[in-house]
Amino acid sequence: MKRTVPIQSLAILPIGKFDESILPQLTQHLKKVFQVEVETLPYIPRPLDAYDQETLQYSAPRILERIETERPEKSVALLGIFDQDLSLEGLHYTFGHGSPRLRCAVISLTRLKEIFWGEEENRELFLNRVRTEATHEIGQLLGLSYCNKNTCVMYFSNGIAETDRKIDEFCAECDQIRQALLQPVPGR
Ligand SMILES: [Zn+2]
Repeated sequence: MKRTVPIQSLAILPIGKFDESILPQLTQHLKKVFQVEVETLPYIPRPLDAYDQETLQYSAPRILERIETERPEKSVALLGIFDQDLSLEGLHYTFGHGSPRLRCAVISLTRLKEIFWGEEENRELFLNRVRTEATHEIGQLLGLSYCNKNTCVMYFSNGIAETDRKIDEFCAECDQIRQALLQPVPGR
C-alpha cells in the first residue's frame, strides 16, 4: 500500500485590521516558492502589551511570543502580518523578524509602503516588497541563514533600497537548503 505523505502547510495570520486585498497574491507566491499549502487565519486584535512606550513601536519578539499559540498544529510555520512599525533590540526598526524556535515570524507593512518613504504611489512595488519580506522571514524561521548574494531573498537588507534590489525568491543554493528543511516526513 502506498504511504501517504502529509502535505506541509504554512499559515498567515493578520494582526489587527488592514487592507487584506494584498493576501491572495501573497498566498499564491508563498505556495509557489515554498511548495506548501497556505492558509489564511482570521485576524487577531493588535497585541497592545507588545507596544513599547520607549520606542513607540511594537516589539517584534513580543509579537512572536503572542502569536505562537495561534499556529495550527499542522502548519510548519506561522507568518503574522502587521500594519504597525516593529522594533528589535539593537536596531532602529525592523521590517520583520522570525524565530526558528517558535516557528513564527512577523512582518510589518508600515515601511514597505511607498508613502512612508515619500515615494509616488506604486502598488506593484509595495506588493513586491511584501512578497520579498514575507519570503525572507519564513526562510529565517525555517532555519535559513543570511545569503551573501545581494539579489537573493535571504540577503540581509539594511534599508528599503536593499530590499528593492532583491528578488522575491531564493537563489539556487538557498533553494536547495529550503528543500532540505521542508523535507516531508513520511507517514507511519
Ligand atoms: Zn541565497
